[in-house]
Amino acid sequence: MRTFKNSEQLWSAIDSSSRIVLVGHANPDGDAIGSLTAMYHFLKQIGKSAFMIVPNSFPDFLSCLDSADAHVHIFNKETEDSSAAIAEADLIICMDLNGPRRIDEMSEPVFKSKTTRRILIDHHLNPETDSFDIVISDTEVSSTCELLLSLILGSPEVNGNSGRINIDCATSIAAGMLTDTNNFANSIFPDTLERMSMLLKRGVDRDALYDSIFCSYSESRMKLMGHLLSEKMQVIHDGSVAFIILDNADKEKYSFQTGDSEGFVNLPLKMRGIRMSALLKEDEGYVKVSLRSKGDLDVNLFARQYCNGGGHLNASGGKLFMDISETAAYFTASVEDYFKKA
Ligand code: 5GP
Ligand code: MN
Repeated sequence: MRTFKNSEQLWSAIDSSSRIVLVGHANPDGDAIGSLTAMYHFLKQIGKSAFMIVPNSFPDFLSCLDSADAHVHIFNKETEDSSAAIAEADLIICMDLNGPRRIDEMSEPVFKSKTTRRILIDHHLNPETDSFDIVISDTEVSSTCELLLSLILGSPEVNGNSGRINIDCATSIAAGMLTDTNNFANSIFPDTLERMSMLLKRGVDRDALYDSIFCSYSESRMKLMGHLLSEKMQVIHDGSVAFIILDNADKEKYSFQTGDSEGFVNLPLKMRGIRMSALLKEDEGYVKVSLRSKGDLDVNLFARQYCNGGGHLNASGGKLFMDISETAAYFTASVEDYFKKA
């Protein structure tokens, strides 16, 4: 689905607003934070200010995008300031999420006001269009950041000339593209590399970005990865599906920090024959599920059917409301059921 027709409405809505709030999804990843900070820096360039908020904290390796100037507020820590900004907003732009459920407890304040205009800019399947006044949705891009780049290129100020995009904005966009594609290993569309090339020509320091994002493991995180692979990974369904369970005991033992398991779900896909991989992580009140697949194996459908979630064809997620000790049996049975129906 490609729907660029609303981009003119986007820029005119921004033009006529003075209190703009940018919102990203819960458990923010590089694309969520990158799309917020990229939009922030672009808005600043065109003389607009904005207030950025995500529901909960993001991994440390993304702090290279957050700064005193461009500060991403954490709703569950900076609740008062964030609530005030949402209440006073005349325009709320949600990015990298497909519906209110993806912002947890922020959905109440964000979707409450009847007069505030709400815009969605996103690349996920099945956007909940009724919740927004303007929807810019394209699922044929690597990331929301890539979509935002084409929108910015089409803006009156930039008018196709990437040299006019400021370097902070370009760097944030590159960060989102780098993380959502797992360093350009997946979710690549025909225009993706061309757009990244444009950012490199603009002066984005890809090596520095790669280093801050992908080479920032703590010793305990590295050891946790080794432990999970050697002790916790299970291969099922004739060697075509693998899953890893990360429970609270291991989190404690390896001093788990937010983001420490980022990317772990991709590791089993390095094995020959594996077509689907899952990470089941114990969280407060639920088990967070991350799913990845290869080819036409649809984990979005799997996430919707068995994990109260959704996402993309090859990368999805959701939540299980059960004890972590029950998840191995539940996941295995779900896989068998899914493939039986397929
Ligand atoms: P991750 O595994 O990196 O947390 O998420 C991968 C993708 O799955 C995300 O980009 C998002 O599209 C989707 N996703 C993750 N968690 C959820 C969830 O709880 N609900 C829905 N609808 N999608 C999710
Ligand atoms: Mn994304």
